[in-house]
Amino acid sequence: MLSMDTLTIKTENKFRSLITKQAYAKGEVICEIPTEKVINRANRYTVQIGRDKHTEVGKLAALNHSCDPNVILDTENLLMVARRDIEKNEELSFFYPSTEWEMDAPFICLCGATNCIHVVAGARFLPLSTLETHYLSPHIREMMIELLNNTELHLKKLQEA
Ligand SMILES: [Zn+2]
Repeated sequence: MLSMDTLTIKTENKFRSLITKQAYAKGEVICEIPTEKVINRANRYTVQIGRDKHTEVGKLAALNHSCDPNVILDTENLLMVARRDIEKNEELSFFYPSTEWEMDAPFICLCGATNCIHVVAGARFLPLSTLETHYLSPHIREMMIELLNNTELHLKKLQEA
């Protein structure tokens, strides 16, 4: 069982971030994703782990979003994994739309990455070409395919009318 002792929350001007006290190699498992309380609606402290499943994640609620993140939340195996080599004292971040279909509290991203998506509101608001460049949870992939199929069906109906 991996503990979260290597992770610490830093608060600066009421802005929280999650810092690692230890270095990790790309692909290394950092900790398990805690499923403290599973609910059927998203809030700003939850992570989506299934179509209608959102969980409170304890310390991991301090994880900020980045369009060029250093961790992945593997919601299938409930593990947080290093997306690249991570240094000691680095802030950890993940790509929110990789787990969130529709967010409760959208915001403007100022991460400065060249591939910044700017409006972080959930996967359903992003073009496929953007999503394709990121790791995506199985439930997000499923919902995306469904949305595309429904759109296609809708367009066909319009053409036939
Ligand atoms: Zn960004």
